[in-house]
Amino acid sequence: MQETLTRLTFPLSTTSAPCSEEEFVARFNQRPGKEARMGYDCPLCRNKEFVLRVENGFHRPYACRCVTIRQNLTRLRNRGLLELYERCTFENYHVTEEWQRGARDCALSFQKSPLDGWFFISGPSGCGKTHLCTAIASQLILSGHDVQIHRWVEWAAQAKAAVTDSGAYAALVQPLKDCEVLYLDDFLKVQHGTRPTAADIRLAFEVLDTRYNTPDKPVLLSSELSLRQIAALDEALAGRIAERSRNHAVQIGSAPGRNYRFK
Ligand SMILES: [Zn+2]
Repeated sequence: MQETLTRLTFPLSTTSAPCSEEEFVARFNQRPGKEARMGYDCPLCRNKEFVLRVENGFHRPYACRCVTIRQNLTRLRNRGLLELYERCTFENYHVTEEWQRGARDCALSFQKSPLDGWFFISGPSGCGKTHLCTAIASQLILSGHDVQIHRWVEWAAQAKAAVTDSGAYAALVQPLKDCEVLYLDDFLKVQHGTRPTAADIRLAFEVLDTRYNTPDKPVLLSSELSLRQIAALDEALAGRIAERSRNHAVQIGSAPGRNYRFK
């Protein structure tokens, strides 16, 4: 990008456009670029993947947010998740009960200000927690945020298997610490009839403690375990989740009359 930037930067005096610099830049940015890719047609740059801005007397190109959006969409497609992300929207989340309305409104509220803490939703299988987390993640992706998405069971199994290989372990774990937004689906889920092991807890704490100690590192967590059940496994881990998600925690009880409460 640096070479491109140097090549494309030029003084305003060399332009011959009969309009203001802002108008020139706006017209340039709306000039059609390439074909839409990954099903995303960018309204900002018309798929050129960069936009011009007027800055200190120069037209300066910046990478458009659609670059990150397409990287996210490519990752989803490569993992077979693209269809899920197109299907699980807020519009498709059916609300017939009050607890569903509460859960959806909490998710919508988080999605509007995602840097304001974490989002935690717990409840039994099939209560819609993955749908709501997916809808949030989808909106963040389309807003240009870098979102890493992992199912706990598969990712944790890989990370635990790599624990004696520092290079492989770091390659699996570091992206979850560094990414802008992290979504862990079915957090701490293990095989039926078993409990998360000490290795599971260490792994969860390592990732979430790093993000807890770094400003503006949003996390989305869906789990069959309530905060109380997580606290029974590890109080410090549950405490960090509870503190960060204090404005956006939904805990759905078991049927009948599933309930929710905000912590
Ligand atoms: Zn763009």
